[in-house]
Amino acid sequence: MEKEKIYEQLEIAAHRAYARGIQTGNGGNCSARMEGGMIVKSSGGSLADCNKEGEGFVETTLDGEVLSPSGKPTREVFLHGLMYKIADELGLSVGGVMHCHSPWAISWSYSKKALPMTTLHMQLKVGCDLPVVDVKTASVQPEDEPAIRKLFEENPKLPGFILVGHGVVALGKDILAAEHMAELFEETAQIAITKAACEKLGIY
Ligand SMILES: [Zn+2]
Repeated sequence: MEKEKIYEQLEIAAHRAYARGIQTGNGGNCSARMEGGMIVKSSGGSLADCNKEGEGFVETTLDGEVLSPSGKPTREVFLHGLMYKIADELGLSVGGVMHCHSPWAISWSYSKKALPMTTLHMQLKVGCDLPVVDVKTASVQPEDEPAIRKLFEENPKLPGFILVGHGVVALGKDILAAEHMAELFEETAQIAITKAACEKLGIY
C-alpha cells in the first residue's frame, strides 16, 4: 500500500476510535506497517488530533528507531514492533495494530479470565476467547515478550488480547481492520459483563 494511503487509514482509524469512545483523552496509540518499518503514533497528544498529513505520527523501524520526522514515538513502540515481528515470523498478515484503553474491556480484565465469545459476532469473526495478559508495568516491556509470543504460537489466528487494568491490543490486515477489531472486543466485553449482571440479578 502507498504511504499516503496508509496515513489516510491511520487518520480514519484514530478518529474513529476516539469518536466511538474506545479511547478518550490523550491515551491509546495505533500503528500501521510500512516498507522498512512502521508508522506509529507519537508520544503525547490525542488520537483525535492525529492526521493524514503526519501530525501525531512518527516513522520508525520495528525496533523503534526513529526514521522520520524527528519525534518521539509512543511509549508502546516496543509493543507495536513486537506484533509485526511475531506476525512476520509466523507468516501472519498484520498491517495494523490498535491499542486503546476501552473501559468495558479493562473492567473485564480484572477478572484475569479470558473474555468469552459471548456474542455470535465474536464467534463468527474471532472464533476464540480473548486472552488476558497481566503486564506489570504501564507499557509492554521486552520481559513480557515470551508470554505474548506464546499466545500467537498457540493460536496464530488470534486477533489480539487484553492487558489487565490497561486496555486492548487489536490486530488487523490494516489499521482500519484493527480498529474494527478493537470495537468488537469492547462490544463483547460490555455484553459479557451485562449478561453476567443479568444472571446475578435473576433476570434470566
Ligand atoms: Zn496503553
